[in-house]
Amino acid sequence: MRILIASSEVAPFAKTGGLADVSGALPKALKNLGHEVGVIMPMYRGIHPDEPALASLDASVAYENRWSAIYRKWLAPDLPVFLVDHRHYYDRESIYCGNNGDYWDNAARFAYFSRVVCEFARKFLPELDVIHLNDWQTSMVPVFMRTHYALDPVFYGTGTLLTVHNMGYQGVFGKEAMDVLELPWKYFTRDCLEFNDSVNFLKGGIVFADVINTVSRRYSFEIQTPEYGYGLEGLLRHRSADLFGVLNGVDYNEWNPATDPHIHSRYSSVDLSGKRECKRALLAECGLYSDYHGPVIGIISRLAGQKGFDLVAEIAYHLMQLDCALVVLGSGEPQYESLFHHLASLYPHKVGVRLAYDAPLAHRIEAGIDMLLMPSKYEPCGLNQIYSLKYGSIPIVRATGGLDDTIEDYDYGSDTGTGFKFYRYEAADLLNCIYRALATYQDSWRWHGLVQRAMSRHYSWDDSARQYELLYQRAKEQHVSFMG
Ligand code: ADP
Repeated sequence: MRILIASSEVAPFAKTGGLADVSGALPKALKNLGHEVGVIMPMYRGIHPDEPALASLDASVAYENRWSAIYRKWLAPDLPVFLVDHRHYYDRESIYCGNNGDYWDNAARFAYFSRVVCEFARKFLPELDVIHLNDWQTSMVPVFMRTHYALDPVFYGTGTLLTVHNMGYQGVFGKEAMDVLELPWKYFTRDCLEFNDSVNFLKGGIVFADVINTVSRRYSFEIQTPEYGYGLEGLLRHRSADLFGVLNGVDYNEWNPATDPHIHSRYSSVDLSGKRECKRALLAECGLYSDYHGPVIGIISRLAGQKGFDLVAEIAYHLMQLDCALVVLGSGEPQYESLFHHLASLYPHKVGVRLAYDAPLAHRIEAGIDMLLMPSKYEPCGLNQIYSLKYGSIPIVRATGGLDDTIEDYDYGSDTGTGFKFYRYEAADLLNCIYRALATYQDSWRWHGLVQRAMSRHYSWDDSARQYELLYQRAKEQHVSFMG
């Protein structure tokens, strides 16, 4: 198949979260299955193309024609990433927001990107079988294909698949965004783009995409309920026949303790001595006692409400009374940054905190901890818990979304499972779950078995790419029959 993947983040070129990991790894897995794949993203500040400009084009936003140059960079041999160079929108300090919050013109920035995706596809990539969109930033592509380009025969055979990586971010803007999108007001209705008297980009994508996907099976059911649907649960239920949940895979070239260049000592399940060295090195790096032999719990996360840190705040005092150390890497909302900052200053020999985004340190933490804590309120897929399995760092998670799909709860009776799960979003349940993990850690025979089982779990992109292949096929067929 001929596939174009459009994304606002692609690792390793631009990343704020899991979306980038997916857009960087899935194309390679699809390529390995024999497909012709291209990726398209904005050329943000600091991204340097591999070649001179490949093409240029005009695309319209807010009734103004804007010119972009298209550059190319190679994600892998024969796997191009097309970079949209429009400095006015993309040559900025960061991807989505400055010091004063989200950029005021994000609606125009990503409406324009979506328009460029359409223009580039119709002019330079004829006979595409599918365009794969990701999140609200590219959700306008299916909307534009069914409106501005509805009569363009070049898209008759091109299906659209929208992957929703997080329902909590929908791209909601004032109704003047209808002019930015250049769409008539007949589309500002409840069954189209209107949402609480505003324009909702993600909603548009869900209404118009041929097939919708999210990043775990469990989350695909959860988002059809009021608790997780953020107001779009009714629409998602309406489209449930076209809604799927393909779990993200992991790029094990990047996340494998046997080959990881970032960690202190490499190791595998056959010989865990390197993991002990990694733990010692991590403790020293965090200013903790490096000969501490008790359990070390790690957190690597965006510090956002979604991730369950209000529960951590509730149990923080009790946690500090237990025999364990805590290592935290994260940045985000000020109240959580100050929570961890305070803990580190009150318990300097128990808690190590780095309030930053630091990719190599994330690897060193995965290798050096015994347990990873992810008490998320909701978690579409979650990647760190899957990395942790491979690093023999046992996940402690809330049973939601992808966390529930990837972690099997440890059962003492049958001595089975790969981690520790709690179900209700309650601080007491989280604390009990941590007690359970710490008690099991004391039994080194059981713990060793748990680590071995965790390290044997494999969530490769090959399996996920095969499922995407089926969805692409379905999107194309659905589109052709709709046009037909
Ligand atoms: P989300 O996309 O909601 O942030 P995921 O678990 O799906 O959560 O993906 C998070 C990704 O970002 C992982 O690759 C993780 O290692 C990385 N990450 C998150 N916070 C940091 C940080 N402070 N420093 C380095 N990497 C981080």
